[in-house]
Amino acid sequence: MKPDNLLYPAPKGLYCELGNFYIDPVQPVERALITHGHSDHARAGHGHVLATRETLDIMRLRYGDGFCGASAIARFGETIAINGVRVTFRPAGHVLGSAQICVEADGTRIVVSGDYKRRADPTCPPFEPIGCDVFITEATFGLPVFHHPDDEREIARLLMSLKQFPERAHVVGAYALGKAQRVIALLRRQGYDEPIHIHGALAKLCDYYQSQGIDLGDIRPATLGPASRQDFAGMIVIGPPAAFAERWARRFPDPLASFASGWMLIRQRAKQRGVELPLVISDHCDWAELTETIREVAPAEVWVTHGREEALVRWCELQGIPARPLHLVGYEDEGE
Ligand SMILES: [Zn+2]
Repeated sequence: MKPDNLLYPAPKGLYCELGNFYIDPVQPVERALITHGHSDHARAGHGHVLATRETLDIMRLRYGDGFCGASAIARFGETIAINGVRVTFRPAGHVLGSAQICVEADGTRIVVSGDYKRRADPTCPPFEPIGCDVFITEATFGLPVFHHPDDEREIARLLMSLKQFPERAHVVGAYALGKAQRVIALLRRQGYDEPIHIHGALAKLCDYYQSQGIDLGDIRPATLGPASRQDFAGMIVIGPPAAFAERWARRFPDPLASFASGWMLIRQRAKQRGVELPLVISDHCDWAELTETIREVAPAEVWVTHGREEALVRWCELQGIPARPLHLVGYEDEGE
């Protein structure tokens, strides 16, 4: 079977006509397979959702019990037949519950990797390379200029700053699903055992991660009463990016604004957000990791989606690997 007949980009997302299902559709559909819980991939309102248990839990936490008509759990490595199409979920290493989805029929195999990363992450199982005919890769940081430094070094910079400025509250912006918990877990790994205060918008997901056995240590609400303002001096406070726009961060004593994102590599972005201590910590691959992954997976063909599609397509062509951009719309990289 030609890969194009197995899966193709339709207005609502990647569509498998034979199986009559979509992967990460951007509009409500009858049957959806979801790679992970970030809001641009996991939307409410589908008739039936197949996803990992964690992704289903995360969707329920974010959208409520009625987030879909019916759901089924996909276990890693288990193959499920949908109208004769075989689908298998494998870890993607992006956030808790994140999966690549392997779609097979008539001897043709396409791997939809969703969002993925290759670095060790204490909050989720690592990406598993799967041989395939077509590898669909994201390209969020798909330009040679993107190089993500070692995340332990970035966390060490935050801890260094705390020592240097013990009177200042270190207010760290991090996305609510994945990044916030990873930053906390990385801090704990470096032996930081002070309470970490979190914005209310992070509470449900941090609690969920803890319930899944990911130890985040002493997490407390960053509730600010008039008497307790000084209690935050020299402490780490974590909030979602939107909270920074609301000037939430400025209520803490002499706040030092930090932000954990792959985009912090771009000095201009840090400046625009008024970030004093940018931390380059990404839940996506940098350029070297994207290209190494393509080499390792060694697919017959690469399809590139959301991000800098053209540069990665060009790189594949120079390596003699047929490649093309998918031009899917509606993915805004919520998790970065
Ligand atoms: Zn994501």
